[in-house]
Amino acid sequence: MCSDPIHLTPDSSLEECNRVAHSAVQRCDEIIKLADAKVACREGCSICCWLRVDVFAHEVFLIAHYIRAQFSAEEISELLVRLADHSTQVLSLTPFEHATSNVVCPLLRDGRCSVYSARPHSCRRHHSLDFATCQFTFDHPEDLDSPAAHDRDLFRALTAVMQQNIDAYSDAGFDQTIYQLGTALNEALNDPSAWSRWRDQNQAFRRASITPPA
Ligand code: SF4
Repeated sequence: MCSDPIHLTPDSSLEECNRVAHSAVQRCDEIIKLADAKVACREGCSICCWLRVDVFAHEVFLIAHYIRAQFSAEEISELLVRLADHSTQVLSLTPFEHATSNVVCPLLRDGRCSVYSARPHSCRRHHSLDFATCQFTFDHPEDLDSPAAHDRDLFRALTAVMQQNIDAYSDAGFDQTIYQLGTALNEALNDPSAWSRWRDQNQAFRRASITPPA
């Protein structure tokens, strides 16, 4: 299921990048469908959308592409206002302060992800077997030692796909900086030169919050 070869080169087109991303998404969806984990996640629950979300630049550009294709002009204007406010808030915090605070994702609308089919791997991999643990995490964001409530095998399988996707872009020489979703998306939608920098295999975003490598 996870053995499809993935090859990108520095000259790969956006279509090829999209193909790689969609291949990974399909494999994640297959893994989730076949898993027999009893996840507690339910439509309308968005507690995990208050966590800091780490992403790579290629994921941010795919989300930006989705927004430009799917959102109305009014929805994009509203989102840009939310992204600007969100960026001001997040950039006033260190990555650790942000990770230990509840800051809502600007892509959450009416309790739902507005880019669900294009959401990043961090969100796609996230799941929980126990709502009470999620609620505890939400009520105590400063407690990073609270136990994870995910299914270990499912999490491992989704992480393997995620890593394969990361490696495809890394092997082709693309930006491997770990960015925070909202601040990077704000830049992607407002600064066209971010895309040029990424295509030239440089660091795409200059103002976004960066998560230090573990
Ligand atoms: S991208 Fe979607 S799923 Fe991920 S945190 Fe934002 S609203 Fe939630």
